[in-house]
Amino acid sequence: MGDKLIQVRNVSKRFPGVLANDRVNLDIERGEIHAIIGENGAGKSTLMNIIYGLYEPTEGEILFEGKPIEIKSPLDAINLGIGMVHQHFMLLPSFTVAENIVLGTEPRRNRIFMDFKEAVLETQQLSETYGLRVDPYRKVGSLSVGIQQRIEILKVLYKGADILILDEPTAVLTPQETEDLFGVIRNLVEDLGKTVIIITHKLQEVLAISHRVSVMRQGKMVGTLNTKDADERVLAEMMVGREVLFEELHKVELPKEEVLSVDGIRARDNRHLMALDGVSFNLRAGEILGIAGVEGNGQTELVEVLTGLRKMEEGTLTIKGVDAFNRTPREIRKLGIAHIPEDRLATGLSREATIWENLLMGVQHMEPYAIWGIHMNKGKIRERTARLIEEFDIRTPTGDILAGSLSGGNMQKMIIAREFSFNTPILIVAQPTRGIDVGAIEFVHKQIVEKRNAGTAILLVSADLDEIFRLSDRILTLYEGRITGEFLSGEISKREIGLYMTGKHMDSIERGGAYEQ
Ligand code: ADP
Ligand code: MG
Repeated sequence: MGDKLIQVRNVSKRFPGVLANDRVNLDIERGEIHAIIGENGAGKSTLMNIIYGLYEPTEGEILFEGKPIEIKSPLDAINLGIGMVHQHFMLLPSFTVAENIVLGTEPRRNRIFMDFKEAVLETQQLSETYGLRVDPYRKVGSLSVGIQQRIEILKVLYKGADILILDEPTAVLTPQETEDLFGVIRNLVEDLGKTVIIITHKLQEVLAISHRVSVMRQGKMVGTLNTKDADERVLAEMMVGREVLFEELHKVELPKEEVLSVDGIRARDNRHLMALDGVSFNLRAGEILGIAGVEGNGQTELVEVLTGLRKMEEGTLTIKGVDAFNRTPREIRKLGIAHIPEDRLATGLSREATIWENLLMGVQHMEPYAIWGIHMNKGKIRERTARLIEEFDIRTPTGDILAGSLSGGNMQKMIIAREFSFNTPILIVAQPTRGIDVGAIEFVHKQIVEKRNAGTAILLVSADLDEIFRLSDRILTLYEGRITGEFLSGEISKREIGLYMTGKHMDSIERGGAYEQ
């Protein structure tokens, strides 16, 4: 670390109606991992796109190694050794790994055809040099998101990048994939002398990976800190511009009425493999029961079974004393379950519908919103829309715009507004804060806790262990389709629970409980 590689000086970028960057200053030093954080819309991607030559700044200048420079296109950026991995991958799914990596700069035979053998060879060399394992022959479309990201990184390295900009690389990754990525980043910086700029809005990730961190808010650069002088509270306050509450929200109380119980559930996943292999537990009124686990261990299937979206092969499901074995989603809703789905874009909302229409789904045929089940009562619907927008802090000028134009955090608040407004005795909440910013996370957590305090039974499924620990009154660990542990809040540390989430608690039991190392 040391000398200044890139200096952004008073850079502004205006889009029609928005000042996305407002006289931003930023220094990137050679050999550092520099995190850029900020809420959605703070201007992070815009700033990076300027450095990468995709946007021209409205004003201001950029110095490279101390000299003023104009980066007019990504090609200029690449010539300076700057590469960028975008938030949304730009790989061609039907092409092989090798083809994707060399695409745009491919070795050619007869100056026309891509030299595939050479591409494979270069991919292998590259993969070796950087310790990023990939299979050059595989079609990209068949690979996991984590591997696709690895390919994007290799692609940038293939072009000779010394400075890598990663725009929200962890938003799509599992905790394990994030760990792997951080290993890769550390290797690139510590052993290979690269410089990395990483955008994220996960504060713990910032603290774990970066040397320095710069915080943006509403287009402005709030400041840069040495990460060792920062903590979550300080960063969150810089991001949202006010105090953020970080207290633990769980409580331990005497158990109340049991409202849902499952016994011995077995169900298969989409590939017909056994995804739930004898799951039993119960859920009580007024508690938040957290299901902790590394993604892909049956969480998705469990939620689907509980909401009627997937059939079980064996077992029982009882909701408020009623047998709910393989009922339809509609019947299950009637029995008293509302559901925040893990994949909000696919199943939680309709992007092509307006906010008011989305908020109405589920009650559109009911009084007072419908008259005789047919005519819409526009006045009542408008009233309801306005009330939910206000109550759930959905940031939008009106309920008449398309839901698809909301930011991720606001989409999630809209879904929560709708599902929570049904006032069901049971809520199943899956990955409620994935990909949303700190301000929205805090809000969503508060809503969940308020529901719990009002006596709702909440099943919280989350791959985010911090979230599980912060909210849950009781925690179950799910590993390979089985419940491997049950703990009251405070009974177990994050570190220890990791063993149950990965099936390693068995090793430690066999070794006589010596799982500290
Ligand atoms: P972040 O990456 O921090 O979430 P962005 O840089 O993407 O934020 O966006 C900053 C602001 O600029 C937002 O209000 C966004 O809507 C706006 N914006 C970003 N890109 C464009 C664009 N190409 N055209 C118009 N507005 C844009
Ligand atoms: Mg962005």
